[in-house]
Amino acid sequence: MKHKINLAMIAISMLAVCITMFSITCVYYNLFGQQVKKDLRIQARILAAAGLSKLTDEESLMGDPDIRITWISAKGEVLFDNDARNLDNHLDRPEVRDAFLNGVGESVRESDTMNMRTFYYAVLLEDGTVLIVSTLARRIYSVFASVAAIVVLIIVMITLLCVTISRILTGKLLEPIRVMAEDLDNVNTPVAYKELEPFITRIRQQHRDILAAAKSRQDFTANVSHELKTPITAISGYAELIENKMVDTDSQIRFAGEIRKQANRLVSLVNDIIRLSELDHKDDLTDVTRIDLYELLKERMEFLGPLATEKNLTLSVSGESSFVTTNKGLVIELIDNLVQNAIRYNVQDGSVGVCVYPCGMQVKLIVSDTGIGIPREEQDRVFERFYRVDKSRSRETGGTGLGLAIVKHIVELHGGSIQLTSEVGQGTTVCVTL
Ligand code: ADP
Repeated sequence: MKHKINLAMIAISMLAVCITMFSITCVYYNLFGQQVKKDLRIQARILAAAGLSKLTDEESLMGDPDIRITWISAKGEVLFDNDARNLDNHLDRPEVRDAFLNGVGESVRESDTMNMRTFYYAVLLEDGTVLIVSTLARRIYSVFASVAAIVVLIIVMITLLCVTISRILTGKLLEPIRVMAEDLDNVNTPVAYKELEPFITRIRQQHRDILAAAKSRQDFTANVSHELKTPITAISGYAELIENKMVDTDSQIRFAGEIRKQANRLVSLVNDIIRLSELDHKDDLTDVTRIDLYELLKERMEFLGPLATEKNLTLSVSGESSFVTTNKGLVIELIDNLVQNAIRYNVQDGSVGVCVYPCGMQVKLIVSDTGIGIPREEQDRVFERFYRVDKSRSRETGGTGLGLAIVKHIVELHGGSIQLTSEVGQGTTVCVTL
């Protein structure tokens, strides 16, 4: 960036110097030409008034390089010339012709070889003779050539100045940005430039998200280790007792049952962890088909029915045909998790009701139970990974603490929303909009 600003400043100033020099030279060249013409007119008038007979005697004028004076007769023959280089007939010269016709005549002739131009002014005198005064001036190329060195010098000086100024400027411009970059966490650090505000807000948000994601990954890893350790320690303990023949045959059978239960717990845990990690890497729905959620709900309630017999729960499905285009496997996972929770955290002889109906372009799916409920302050947290309100009941019933986290993920993949309302001792209602 610094480099670009440097180059841009140098280029702009070089261009500015060249344009300015060119324009000034052109303007002055023109003004100078006019001034030369004016001077020639005045000189001619003075010479004419002074009397040419005297002039011809004037020694000091002879060979004067600044002014050339030529006096010609009415026939064009040279009567006097202070340079005496070109003494041929002057009648065909434009300024002489004009002088004979109009009293005065002037012209400018360029000389390629000398890089000069000559200004001529001719005036018809009362006796019919013509006085011509002429002088040499530089041509524009030669004027340019003479200022070229100065232009180059100015450019070099301006380049040095630009580099210095742009260094200072870019340093001053970038310093607050550098300070901000070093302190991205601190939202109180003022944003250096108003124009950068949306950019910085976004970067800060992303930075916070990254930190939060890193923190949640760390927490998740710690939780996973902890969750896996419990059943593994139990399995290892039971196995050790059996190995050392420290238990009787009846207890051995009981311990084998415990080992199987803990192993199943491990399997569910690992399955849910893998599922979550798969969902973490999913950005959109794949393998979608059009599904009637009402039919699917009836199917799933029939499948999960046996889980409810132990508590003698009443299961009911209501609503109407509601179609969604989605991945069937994911929706089954969502329904199963919610219904399993409604069964698991229910009371003896309670009930579980599921209902689905279309709602505008979306579909609402409601799972309600008459279970133990969730305290108000914990209702938001139950969607966190491994968060359990009633830890022992969750473990006993084979819960992993990941079910609602998976549900939330699936709902987000659908761009939908989820609301949970619950009253301790009354029951819980989860409403999903897909
Ligand atoms: P789990 O595998 O433990 O059921 P979830 O993520 O599905 O994990 O749920 C998290 C916690 O929320 C559960 O441990 C439980 O305490 C509470 N919970 C979830 N659903 C219900 C419900 N329908 N009624 C009461 N508590 C519930």
